[in-house]
Amino acid sequence: MENIKILKGFKPTLTGMPDLSTIQIPEPETIAVSAMDIPFIRPKLLVKENDSVKTGTPVFCDKRNNRIQYVSPGTGIVKHILFGERRQLKEVVIALEKTEDFVRFEPISSEQMDKASRSTMTAQLQQGGLWQCFRQFPYRDTADETHEPPMIIVSLNGNDPFSPHPKVVFENEFAFFESGIKLLKLFSKRIIVTSRQGSLQRLNGHKDLITHVVSDSYPAWDPAVVLYKLKQTPKENMSWCITAEHLILIAKFLLTGIYPVKRVITVTRSTDKKPHIITRQGAPVKNLVGSLAENSLITTGRFNGRSVDPGSHLGFFENTLNIIPDNQTEELFGFISPGLTKPTVSKTFLSCLTRTPKALDCNAHGEERACINCGYCTNICPVDLAPSFILKALLSEDIEDALSYGLLDCCRCGLCSYTCPSKIELTKILSDGINAHYKDKE
Ligand code: SF4
Ligand code: SF4
Repeated sequence: MENIKILKGFKPTLTGMPDLSTIQIPEPETIAVSAMDIPFIRPKLLVKENDSVKTGTPVFCDKRNNRIQYVSPGTGIVKHILFGERRQLKEVVIALEKTEDFVRFEPISSEQMDKASRSTMTAQLQQGGLWQCFRQFPYRDTADETHEPPMIIVSLNGNDPFSPHPKVVFENEFAFFESGIKLLKLFSKRIIVTSRQGSLQRLNGHKDLITHVVSDSYPAWDPAVVLYKLKQTPKENMSWCITAEHLILIAKFLLTGIYPVKRVITVTRSTDKKPHIITRQGAPVKNLVGSLAENSLITTGRFNGRSVDPGSHLGFFENTLNIIPDNQTEELFGFISPGLTKPTVSKTFLSCLTRTPKALDCNAHGEERACINCGYCTNICPVDLAPSFILKALLSEDIEDALSYGLLDCCRCGLCSYTCPSKIELTKILSDGINAHYKDKE
């Protein structure tokens, strides 16, 4: 195992870290296939309201490549098709039936996994609703099936400090992970498997496949950070990545011939420590979060991710929910308070002297101001960018300048926005810049 060192990033001590126990929650009444968390997709509906669907029936495909399908994670009747602004597809909601019926594919054996043809496996995964697990850098769009990636990075730790722990993810599933690694060899000669240092001690018996260990500073385990540290040629900028959970799903699907619906989710709030939750893909958010205090915000990540409505359903790529108080009241004489319980990156509050876990909230404590060139964003950026320089290039619509400052290396971790004392939404502006550049190229 090699060590990948990152000198920047942030090691937050936050309350609410999930423990390693698991609970299985009862089957929900509805599930949904969400289009809201799928980057760049242009969905084309393949079902209408009141249609019957089996587990594995295609629900929508991507107009840009209609072989890539998104399938129902349950058997039932299409109850609602929800659209947002400008008829953007949000969710296809399915009312579950008691008995489950599956769309079936010809299973393959584990021995065939690295001997099958790449094109057959690709077609099966696209039809079976799992090809989108492969993401291609630098934009992290769905992988291009015609491209041979110089490396595939497999991350054991998701994309959030509280993503499901690999020990829980591997529980009874490690054989599928091993088969998945064999499959990856059909697609690339170089497979990188990364784990956080802090996860290793719980992975006894499962360490052999890990090639690189990264630190526990967020977001050292993000595949984009790993790629930034490992790449030596420009060609490697088009490598692929996949999470361990998704690799297990892919192997399970190929070995059994049916679409796997089980998902491991973490739900965290600062006031309690919750177990990992076992549920079905696309479960209703309200079933996962339980009762909510007034003015609570639910997000799918602590420093990045989207905010979700309690009446919506969890997306394909989402495996953590974070409940934070949306308290926007102004603090009287906040500037002279010692801030013993406030999380801080700089030395603004006395809390920097203790390692006691702190609670996050949504209060920005002020409005956006002009950049003061403090350099905090540069000091924290895990991929050595100067976000304030890129910001200025993007605001003056000079994309070439932004690219020359390394815009495409940004892993959208959210730390620059979190640390900025001028409350500038750097991550959103950089992320929109990356997406706009990509769409211009398409
Ligand atoms: S620019 Fe901001 S969002 Fe992008 S990698 Fe650096 S800190 Fe993270
Ligand atoms: S942290 Fe904010 S204020 Fe400081 S340099 Fe970066 S953008 Fe400017």
